[in-house]
Formats: sequence, structure tokens, C-alpha cells
Amino acid sequence: MPDFCKVALPLPLPKTFDYRVPAGMPAAPGCRVKVPWGRRSLTGVVTELSDRSEVEEPRPLEALLDPRPVVPAAMLEFTRWVAQYYLAGWGEVLPLACPPLWKGRAETWARAADAEALRAFALGLPARQEKSRGALLRLAGSGSLPLAELKSLGLSAPAWRRVQELGWASRQERAAPPPETEAEASGAVELGEARPDLTPAQAGALEEVRGALKAGDAAAFLLHGVTGSGKTEVYLRALEEALDLGGGAIVLVPEISLTPQTLGRFSRRFPGRVAVLHSGLSARERAASFSALASGRARVALGPRSALFTPVRNLKLLVVDEESEPSYKQESAPRYHARDAALVRARREGAVALLGSATPSFESFQNCRLGKLKLLRMPDRVAGRALPRFHFIDLAGPAGEEGSQAGFLSRPLKEAVSARLEAGEQSLLFLNRRGFAPVLSCARCGQALQCPHCSISLTYHLQKPFGFSGPGESPGGAGQGPWMLCHLCGHARRPPRFCPEPGCAPSKGLMRVSGAGTQRLEEELRRLFPSARLLRVDRDTAGEKAFHEKVGRMMRSGEVDILVGTQMIAKGLDFPNLTLVGVVNADAGLQFPDFRAAERSFQLLVQVAGRGGRGEKPGEVWVQSRMPQHPCLQAASRQDFEEFFRAEVAERRDLGYPPFGRLAALILRSRDKDKALDQALRLARLLESARARLGLKGISVLGPAPSPLVRVQGWWRYRLLVKSGDSGALHRLLDPLAFEFKPSGGYLAVDVDPISFL
Ligand code: ADP
Ligand code: ZN
Repeated sequence: MPDFCKVALPLPLPKTFDYRVPAGMPAAPGCRVKVPWGRRSLTGVVTELSDRSEVEEPRPLEALLDPRPVVPAAMLEFTRWVAQYYLAGWGEVLPLACPPLWKGRAETWARAADAEALRAFALGLPARQEKSRGALLRLAGSGSLPLAELKSLGLSAPAWRRVQELGWASRQERAAPPPETEAEASGAVELGEARPDLTPAQAGALEEVRGALKAGDAAAFLLHGVTGSGKTEVYLRALEEALDLGGGAIVLVPEISLTPQTLGRFSRRFPGRVAVLHSGLSARERAASFSALASGRARVALGPRSALFTPVRNLKLLVVDEESEPSYKQESAPRYHARDAALVRARREGAVALLGSATPSFESFQNCRLGKLKLLRMPDRVAGRALPRFHFIDLAGPAGEEGSQAGFLSRPLKEAVSARLEAGEQSLLFLNRRGFAPVLSCARCGQALQCPHCSISLTYHLQKPFGFSGPGESPGGAGQGPWMLCHLCGHARRPPRFCPEPGCAPSKGLMRVSGAGTQRLEEELRRLFPSARLLRVDRDTAGEKAFHEKVGRMMRSGEVDILVGTQMIAKGLDFPNLTLVGVVNADAGLQFPDFRAAERSFQLLVQVAGRGGRGEKPGEVWVQSRMPQHPCLQAASRQDFEEFFRAEVAERRDLGYPPFGRLAALILRSRDKDKALDQALRLARLLESARARLGLKGISVLGPAPSPLVRVQGWWRYRLLVKSGDSGALHRLLDPLAFEFKPSGGYLAVDVDPISFL
């Protein structure tokens, strides 16, 4: 037994630390340990055992937290790559690959007392309980399973109670986690939904993916299919193939589309084999998902970006749905991009990567042109359905004039909604701003009410959303009447009647609201269409658990005529009777201070338009804009990504921005404005001299400049941007400088391949 080990600790440092392994402690690489750190202790992961230590007299490990390794060897290597590439500590990345630590050792298990009866009961469950059915069939097949695992598969409490009452299953407290049971061999569960016949485009795409899976090539594909072209069906068939080959798979989806609708499609097709991971799971459930995947009992991990780090066995396929979604980038350390890291994991483990989108990212599309990804096209919707037709309403022209008097809907859009109501069809109105109005300002001096901690104005809300607390209120109290809220830090206050500015004299001006948010749009719609049934979806309404399920149910059962909401409703939803999509303000996103503003607007517009006309009836899109001739809007109206890419990409190339160059953002934060700027200037000088010393070419340091949101929660933020022709030079410049730079009175955040520029 080696006497020493190296431990990765959750610190922003590019190294591991040596400790002594006490005699008899079976520490192994991939186990978590508690170690002394100064006068405290920290939890880290053993990365290596060794016979000698690089330091004299290393301190001993305090405790071994995992009796067996929880991080497989390949995952240790992969997390090390992620840490190096994103300039984070290895020990900052490793927690992503670890199941939560058990609080206690006792665990509740479910045991099948009468497997036959249980199976018959499960098969008799109605279709709407298919998750319980899958879970119970799984239990019948394996004899006993952790209850948490069954619940993560969707076993409902009533179904579980019922089978216990009938005596066909029982619960057991087990003192310790059981030895890993092998995945049971043969099909306990062969019950799924009907598989549609593939369209020729789907079949063509699948053929390529299947070929690579069969050949064991670590090929990578970009599936570019318009909205409604049936990309999900291609993923499902590719998963079937991977599983048939005895492999496992990971399916990454944006958190926002982790809806019951999506989950249902996957778990119905592979009952009992899908482990879902999302932020709503308890520690116990999450641990159960990890253990099911590690043992091979579950073969598919489905979840948001962090699901990339699950210990799926014999990984054969890695799907990244909606690969251009910004939520794949983590905006806190470690700032990894799950799509890019997925390509690396797939290559290392010999798995096929399948990225999909209706609106590919420029990075991925450029990778197709360079031959790093293979492009698969599905240019048409399934079953000969048409893409929705676009109409523009020029808000700068007569229609807009008319509209602005009445409110936020121009006459043509109102008429279009009316026509749907008469036809008994559904409309979706999209406005990417929650709250009632984005600004409350003084009628006399014009000053808008600002957040005292952030450099943005407060948003006027008709009520305080759940979870916010204002002065003199307990958190969670709904608080009657209007509130002003900061969307960055959550600061809440009552709206003042008169201008609070000391300079606003002699008599204070009255405050008034301007601009529109979803609440105000909802109010206007109620006035315009008093008999219509409205449903608003934004972060303020979505706090409720199972909200997505409710929205889906209400839309499908026809209880809703008009769906109003933010980007929460722009993606992924599939409602056959929805035939009109109205975009209330298409210009908002185009004015963002970000070189990807047009790309994002294009994506959002194409996505939201794609919600319409997905059933038998064709869809229409009405877009309100002050610049309807903008190339981004025009390309979106034709849903022509490649045209848009060609138009936009020249400018990117000239500026050396992604996908042609690499960026890293360095953000200096301090409570003190001058300190933040001073430290940013000092770092800029250090980078300049390092660049000269290393003789690096084709790399430049831009800034410092104040971030567009220069102040957030009381922190001042200045940003440097390092731009490089290739990532090698970028890393040579930043490593180890980024780790070694110690700002006085502040913090440095390093963001490699940044997505957000706020
Ligand atoms: P996308 O993800 O490309 O927007 P989906 O996978 O959601 O598209 O498919 C759109 C709709 O078409 C879904 O309702 C799906 O069930 C249906 N569909 C997919 N493939 C087929 C097919 N081959 N035949 C008939 N319907 C299909
Ligand atoms: Zn604030």
C-alpha cells in the first residue's frame, strides 16, 4: 500500500496537494477524502497514490469519505482537461463528477415481494402513468432497488402506496449502500411508445450516425434540422442503436426544455433505463441516479450541462440538443461550456457526438466547414408540414403609430389574434421582458429609479413574486400592490409616488411607468379580448412546482387561447393547435452590447416562430419591429440559417472574433470602483509584458473597459478581453498568470470562450 497520495482540492489553483495515507485506510484514486488545510479541513478527491511525496512530512488524510472510488479513471482525466482548458482548479471541476455525499448510511430500498403480480399491476396502469409503470417494471425485473432511484424514474407516491397495500412490494431500510448489482441481463421491460416511420431526411441522418456507432468511430455530427423536422426522433433512434450495441449514452438538453414533455419522450422509449438529472433533485435522488448509471442499471443520462459529468458506463453516444443554447456555458467557476467539453469527452472515450439545432452556433457551423463536424441537414418539417409564414409590422410606419396609441399591439397583430380566437386556434405572444414595465421615471426630471446596488433600473411589478422580500416583510410574503424589483440582485422596494432625486426641485415630479413587460401585455390583452383565456409564463409565474406540466396540460386540452411569455416559451414546446406566433418587439435583442447580438436574435426568432403550425394546420408569425429590413430579421423570416451565417460571418472574420479567433474575458471585481479599475490596469500591464516576453504573435489584450453592467450587487466590474488566433497562444499567455495574479481588494474571474458579455 503506497504511503502517500495526491489530492485535488476545491481551490482556484492549478495543482494537487500531497498527503500521507494513514495505515490501513484504503484510499484510492477517485475517492473523496477529508484533509487538513491550515486550521480547517477540506474535502477533495484523491487523484493518485505514490510511494514518495514531493513535500517533506505531508500531513495525514483525516478521513476517507467513499469506501470505493466514485470518480472513474477516465473521468479523472477528463475533469483534469476541463480544469486546464477553462483555467480552473482540478478540484473545482471534480465535484461535478461526484454524487452527493450520503448524510447517513441508512437507505430505503424497495423490494418486489411478488414480481409477477407487480408486473401485471404495472402493465395495467393507464398511459398517463407510464413513468410509474416503467419504474415498477424495473423493480419487478431486478427484485430490489433503492426507492430514491425508482422515484427518480418517475414512480408516483400513490402508485407506490398501492403496490405496498396489495402486498406486492415492500420497503426495507438498509444499513449501508448495497454492493453494486450488475445491470440485469434481459428485457424486464419492453414497453414503449409507437415509433413513427422515419422521413427520408431522418433516415438519411440516422444512417450516418448509426454507421459511426457500429464502426466504433469517435465521429462528431451537427444535425441542422429546421424546427419540427423531427430531430428528437433521430436522437431516439441513435440511442436505440447505442444501447443495442451494449453501450450507454448521455443526452444534454437546456435546463429550460427539461419539461415533462421531453422527459416523457425519452423515458417512454427506454422505460427504466433513463436516469434524469436536474436541479430539482434531492441529494438522495441525485446520488441514486449516479449509482444507477455507475452500475449500469440505467444506461442513459438525461439532463442539463452537468449531466456531462455522470459516470455512464461504456459511453457510446453523446447528444447535445439545441447546441447553440447559451445555458450550456456555466457562468461561475468552473466556467466550462458543456457542448465543447462534450466533444472532447466523446473523442476521448471513443463515443459518437451528435449536436443538434435548428439554429446552429457559428462555432459549430464553422467546425462543419473545417471538417471537424459532419453536417447532417433536415431542411423540411415532418409530414410535409410547412414552416410558418412571416409578416412584418413596421412600428416606425403607420401601423406602429396606430398601435402606440392603443397600446403595444399594432392593428394587424390584434386582427390576427382575433381571427385565431374565432377559429378556435391558439396564439403565442412573445415579449422577452418580465414584470409590468421596465422603467419608472420622473415626469419632471426624467430620472429613472435605479437599483441602489446595481447599474440597472428597477422593474415595475404588479405584485411581488414569490420569494422576494422587501423592507419590513418576511420572505415569501406575496405583498399586495406594486413593487419595484431588481432583476439582477433581487432588491425590492415600493414604488415612490414622487421623484426621490434630491435635485428634482422645486416641486417633486410624479413618477410614471414606461415600456412594456409581460404583465402589462397581459393586462392589455385582457382589455382587448375580454373573453379570451390567457396564460402568462415567465420567471414570476413559473416558481410553482410542476408549472411546466400544467402549462403543457392546459395548452393541449385547449384551456388556453393566448399564451403570453418570455423566452421560457420560445423553445421546445410542441402544441398542435398553436397557429399564431406574435413577436411584440423584435428589436430588443439586436441592441445588446455583444458581438453575438444578431446571432442570438436570429436564434430566438427562429425558435419562437417554430412553435407555430406544428400540427396539421399551418402557422403564421407576426413580427413587430422598427427595422424590419434588418438582415437578421429578414433571414429569420426565411428560416435560412446558412444565408444568415454568410452575411454575418465576414464581420466576425475581420474582427477576429469567434468562430475565427479565441477570446478570454478577465473580470476584475471590487467593492471599490477605483480599486477595480486599478487592478484591471495592473493586470493589463502584466499581460502585455508576458506577451512580449513569450514572443506571442496574433494575440491582443483589449481594455480594461467597464462591463456593460458595471455594478452588480454592490460590486464594480471592469473587463479585459484577450483575443487570440488560436487557443494555444491564449493558454500560454494566461497560464499561470491567471492563477498567480492576486488582485488587492478584489477578485479576478477568468472566462475562457465567454458567452455572456454582461
Ligand atoms: P424538432 O425537435 O426538430 O423541432 P420534433 O422531434 O419535436 O422536432 O418533431 C416534431 C413533431 O413531429 C413531433 O410531434 C414528433 O412527434 C413528430 N414526428 C417526428 N418524426 C416523425 C415522423 N417520422 N413521422 C411523423 N411524425 C414525426
Ligand atoms: Zn440590484
